[in-house]
Amino acid sequence: MPIQILDDNVISQIAAGEVIERPASVVKELIENAIDAGATQIYVETLVGGRRLVRVSDDGIGIPSDEAPLAFMRHATSKLRTSDDLLSIRTLGFRGEALASIAAVSHVTLTTRHREDNLGIRIRVEGGQIVHRQAVGAPTGTVIMVENLFFNTPARLKFLKADTTEKRHILNMVSRYAIAYPQIRFVLNQDGKETFRTHGNGRLADVVMIVLGIDNFRQMLEVAEEITQTHGPSIRIYGYVSNPELHRIDRTRIMLFVNGRSIQDNSLSHAITQAYHGLMEHGNFPYAVLLIEMPTDFVDVNVHPTKAEVRFQDANVVFIAVQKAVRNAVLAATSLPISGHANRISPLIQGWERTWAGAKSDEPEQTELNLNLTDSGRFPQREFADKNIPYSMEAPIKPRTLPVLRIVGQIGATYIIAEGPAGLYLIDQNAAHERLLYETLLASYRNNETILSDTIDEAISIQLTPSQMTLIERFGERFVAFGFGLEPFGPNTILLRQVPSILKSADPAIYLPSLISDLEGAIRDRTIEFDIQLIIQMASAAAIRSGQILSREEMHDLVSQLERCPSPLTAPDGRPTLIHISAEQLAREFRRH
Ligand code: ADP
Ligand code: MG
Repeated sequence: MPIQILDDNVISQIAAGEVIERPASVVKELIENAIDAGATQIYVETLVGGRRLVRVSDDGIGIPSDEAPLAFMRHATSKLRTSDDLLSIRTLGFRGEALASIAAVSHVTLTTRHREDNLGIRIRVEGGQIVHRQAVGAPTGTVIMVENLFFNTPARLKFLKADTTEKRHILNMVSRYAIAYPQIRFVLNQDGKETFRTHGNGRLADVVMIVLGIDNFRQMLEVAEEITQTHGPSIRIYGYVSNPELHRIDRTRIMLFVNGRSIQDNSLSHAITQAYHGLMEHGNFPYAVLLIEMPTDFVDVNVHPTKAEVRFQDANVVFIAVQKAVRNAVLAATSLPISGHANRISPLIQGWERTWAGAKSDEPEQTELNLNLTDSGRFPQREFADKNIPYSMEAPIKPRTLPVLRIVGQIGATYIIAEGPAGLYLIDQNAAHERLLYETLLASYRNNETILSDTIDEAISIQLTPSQMTLIERFGERFVAFGFGLEPFGPNTILLRQVPSILKSADPAIYLPSLISDLEGAIRDRTIEFDIQLIIQMASAAAIRSGQILSREEMHDLVSQLERCPSPLTAPDGRPTLIHISAEQLAREFRRH
């Protein structure tokens, strides 16, 4: 076939295919428009899984009569003007594609009256062409009726699943928006039967209970976490996750929302699942309804035609925040007595019989919980640190000091279990990382390399004791050499403008005073020279803490670097980094000899 430019009809059908995959996509786009129009009630009606009819009615602001025909043009939107606006999108729509796409593959009738118009308008569009328009009396708001979806794209029609499947997709879609907007009343009617309704009273718990059903909702734990960072956006994470006993073999019950938008994000689903590490069997997945809120300029929503995916400016920070929020909720519920944990649940279900909790207390405790990592028998719940293990990609390959280790897993968010040719290795993640950071810093220092530093957006003032201040004054120039930018600011206060890059995600208000105290002690005892002592302290402040859940890749990075570390067996302060249990020892313990 010679190269030819496609005709407009074909172009719009191809474009429509990206946005409108199935009847549920129509429901999604029409609901989004209703929400953007400020609706308080949204009524969705479908026939035959949405193939015959999808009708969405709202009581939103409506469309002015003279603008209504424009709504069906591609790239026609009232929500965006310049590309800069993309950074601060607060509406669900912005691409101006949905109505045009729907109209290209169906018969659409729009009836709308804008709040300030006396008369409304009705427009009928078939296969993208306006075939009828007339002024009509109508209540404020908009009704969009979509009939005979995919009538002109038989291929798409053939790929639709059984009506029951399409109905389920539609129900799922409506449920998601109902969760994201509890203040809006949603009603779904499928083939003449009401299949879903929310109250629109603004209470998330009520909606989640309707969506999951009362029995499942009883097993949900509340998540409420506000993460404020020194160097990044504040993130609010709230919603519900299941207690570890309620799970499924797939991820379909993990629902994620970012700034009022339902999204798919494998990495965040993984963060949620990982938070159950040690509490849920591998291959099982929790239920979760998690809503994440953060400033709009930290999320790019313009990634995908269906707007189902977003890109975060710092995906890692969001990953850790979600994992931490879920982990905290789950640990609080699994380790506190029942009375304590009822406080975390919304008042709505406090009075309900806590069957699962009651039953559980009669059973022997799960072995995973019996790790005895702390005196109380709980997992340590120290602050998670937002840190990355540095990759040392360009570094020349160093000789091996440990055998190749295969990661088996992590226990108590503190130790990495690995297997080597000679048996089992238990690695203390904190001690091992301290050793690695120490070696790296020491090598840069010895080679006279500049220590990389990061500027802090808003200088931080830190209060010190007079003797700490004296030390800063005396060794100020050494701090600068190691990447700190600081200056005196009032009697016993310093202003911090720059930090060494390895410390960029740690909180200086926490580590700096203790780092200086430790240096003071070392100077007094004259044990080692100042610079080395500073390196030790920096490594300790920047290292991964115990209590931080690590991904497989993170564990792998850490261990493979340790395998080539000159002295892999101890942390700079002398603590062991690993315990080796030989195959013989294991055999002896299990009396296999
Ligand atoms: P987008 O939502 O990306 O702007 P759409 O094609 O979905 O694009 O809608 C085009 C325009 O039509 C919207 O920008 C809005 O001005 C108007 N519109 C669509 N649906 C409604 C509605 N239910 N209520 C009010 N205005 C609507
Ligand atoms: Mg839209």
